[in-house]
Amino acid sequence: MKYIDHHAHMVSRTTDDYQQLALTGCVAVTEPAFWAGWDRSTAEGMEDYFRQLTEFEPQRAGQYHIQHYTWMAMNPKESDDRELSREVLGRIPKFLDRPTVLGIGEIGLNRITRNEIDTYTEQVELALKYRQLILIHTPHLEDKLKGTKISVDVLGNVPGIDPGRVMVDHAEEHTVQMILDGGYWAGLTLYPQTKVSAARAADIIERFGAERMCVAGACDWGPSDPIAVPRFIMEMRRRRHPDELIHRVVFENPVRFLSQSPKFRIRPAAAAESVRETAAPSAR
Ligand SMILES: [Zn+2]
Repeated sequence: MKYIDHHAHMVSRTTDDYQQLALTGCVAVTEPAFWAGWDRSTAEGMEDYFRQLTEFEPQRAGQYHIQHYTWMAMNPKESDDRELSREVLGRIPKFLDRPTVLGIGEIGLNRITRNEIDTYTEQVELALKYRQLILIHTPHLEDKLKGTKISVDVLGNVPGIDPGRVMVDHAEEHTVQMILDGGYWAGLTLYPQTKVSAARAADIIERFGAERMCVAGACDWGPSDPIAVPRFIMEMRRRRHPDELIHRVVFENPVRFLSQSPKFRIRPAAAAESVRETAAPSAR
């Protein structure tokens, strides 16, 4: 089944992982800017990373016939440093015209500090100014509920926000309703050991429905799985959910959300084609 992984930190992965993605039906990945596991010391260092995301990584993905898109941001973890954040934010606009940049992300909160909230607010405003899609990281700490609430509240206070152009990612059972009620897209990110598993994601889809829901592998430099989305597909099939529903979650929904950027080149028309392809074997 064709799928799109809207959250994959491919700079941390090997070409074997691209091969696995391609072999399991991945046609596009989107890569949010994030924390490298260590704090960068200068805005130049961050700019080099943005160049890697916009220049080198699309080529690497292209060798496996996977479209690679990206998001520009000062990541939540380093956003507490206000001085560095201001400098980095000043350098983001020149990347926004690049052909594979879909928006601003992943932005949000980590330890929920005043500084983080200020940087986050400025990044939301930057996205609106340049008409960019927004991808929001919600904190993984024990106060995910509080962190998600504050993230959503900040959005609500920025005039001109269109919730349909915002995805709130790393949603869980106790935060997904709040995200959907606000009119935002909800992202479920799957991890092999901690956080949301394929089975929990399937439970969440069963409980809350598929409207405005996407799933992603969120693979990075830590324990994570580049083919987490195919594992979710397997789990949904094991539970005898129809391919149309699964396809909606892993392909049509991300296409609908991401196509709001004119740079995203996979069109919903391809979705109908893909359903026919995947529906055919089971109809025999
Ligand atoms: Zn991430």
